[in-house]
Amino acid sequence: MRERIVGIDQRVPVLDGSLRRYVNLDNAASTPALRDVLDTVNRFMEWYASVHRGTGFKSRVATRAYEDARETVARFVGADSHQHVVIFGKNTTEAINKLSYRLPLASEDVVLVSQMEHHSNDLPWRARARVEHIGLDVLGRLDEAHLGRLLQTHAGRIKLVAITGGSNVTGAMPDLHRVAVKVHAAGAQILVDCAQLAPHRDLDIGALDDPAHLDYVTLSAHKMYAPFGTGALIGRRDTFERGEPEYRGGGTIEFVSLDDVTWADAPDRDEAGTPNVVGAVALAAAMRALSSIGMERIARHEAELTAYALKRLTAIRGLRIYGDADPLRASQRLGVIAFNLEPHPHALVAAVLATEFGIGVRNGCFCAHPYLIHLLGLTHDDVLQVRSSMAVGDRSAVPGLVRVSFGHYNTTDDIDRLAEALSNISRGEYQGKYYQDRTTGEY
Ligand code: PMP
Repeated sequence: MRERIVGIDQRVPVLDGSLRRYVNLDNAASTPALRDVLDTVNRFMEWYASVHRGTGFKSRVATRAYEDARETVARFVGADSHQHVVIFGKNTTEAINKLSYRLPLASEDVVLVSQMEHHSNDLPWRARARVEHIGLDVLGRLDEAHLGRLLQTHAGRIKLVAITGGSNVTGAMPDLHRVAVKVHAAGAQILVDCAQLAPHRDLDIGALDDPAHLDYVTLSAHKMYAPFGTGALIGRRDTFERGEPEYRGGGTIEFVSLDDVTWADAPDRDEAGTPNVVGAVALAAAMRALSSIGMERIARHEAELTAYALKRLTAIRGLRIYGDADPLRASQRLGVIAFNLEPHPHALVAAVLATEFGIGVRNGCFCAHPYLIHLLGLTHDDVLQVRSSMAVGDRSAVPGLVRVSFGHYNTTDDIDRLAEALSNISRGEYQGKYYQDRTTGEY
């Protein structure tokens, strides 16, 4: 397990001026681009041209590359072009917002959203429908019994259940296909936010006549070893063959007269303006690279890393993991671990790891405030307190955690470095005082 599946070594200067190998444990935020992806993009740049509307040779090649990328994305999630469409956009957030506009929703319709969602899979729904939050258990996992009760209580009014495929805070992975069966039995549809899941697990959207199918999935290229700026919404064709797009303009239409518009078929109707062909080509290259490594192999490697990390981290004095910390269940969750190292502030721990040890992690609330409220057991009064401090510009009361997240290129050696650094911090062996901003108190 010490060898890398794919080497992405980088070195960065640390505080004492030496160059250290940079250990990137912030893959849940964005992953480094794979060499294969960068090579494919460089080759494609020779054929760089606007797609669809051009008849020039380069434009045809670019159009072909764009449509091939669409097919690769479809294959990666097990979609079938008769039943599904792949709509390219800029990221998961945009994809979910698009779906929230494209689903026919009335303000009294109910959308069930779990309390572990990233804000990107919660706030768009709050704006369009009545949202009921699905509760979680003590380990921060989806409470399926509560989901069952909500499906009964709001029977006939639920249009959609929107859940994550894997949490960006605790790595919790709901049993998607089991949930999908319940959702469909209640006459609703299911969206799975696969921003975290897609780079780590085999994904299968499933055929529409399978009760365990997923109706919509979304993903972001920058979390799956391709550059920023591209995402995809993959979902049932019938939803996107009707209705009007939320963005209108070039590319979305078949014909426009002075007083009428004939919309284009899916997916063109939902891809307004000149698309990001380079981004689509890069995303497809990343998916091909992941598939050739093998999603099973990636999942196995990351589960071993996660089990190892859970064992090493729980042995550190003052370190408390939020979410499931049992190494024996490592294969049932993603390699995302959130923790605090008492009594050290999360922001200080993250800053010291980066600047003194060359280890990149993340800290804060990870765009999942309701989830942090659950994990930290904050009461209603605590939440009011945070809100009133923020109203007067004091952010120090905002709670937070430190998060490490693994990619398939990480090794147990990276985890050893992390564990040693955290042990040093826990013994007070760091110079962190240098990083505190005197005016804001932030690190
Ligand atoms: N959902 C989850 C679970 C995420 O982790 C993220 C990114 N942190 C998003 C949605 C949003 O992705 P993006 O910023 O690429 O739109």
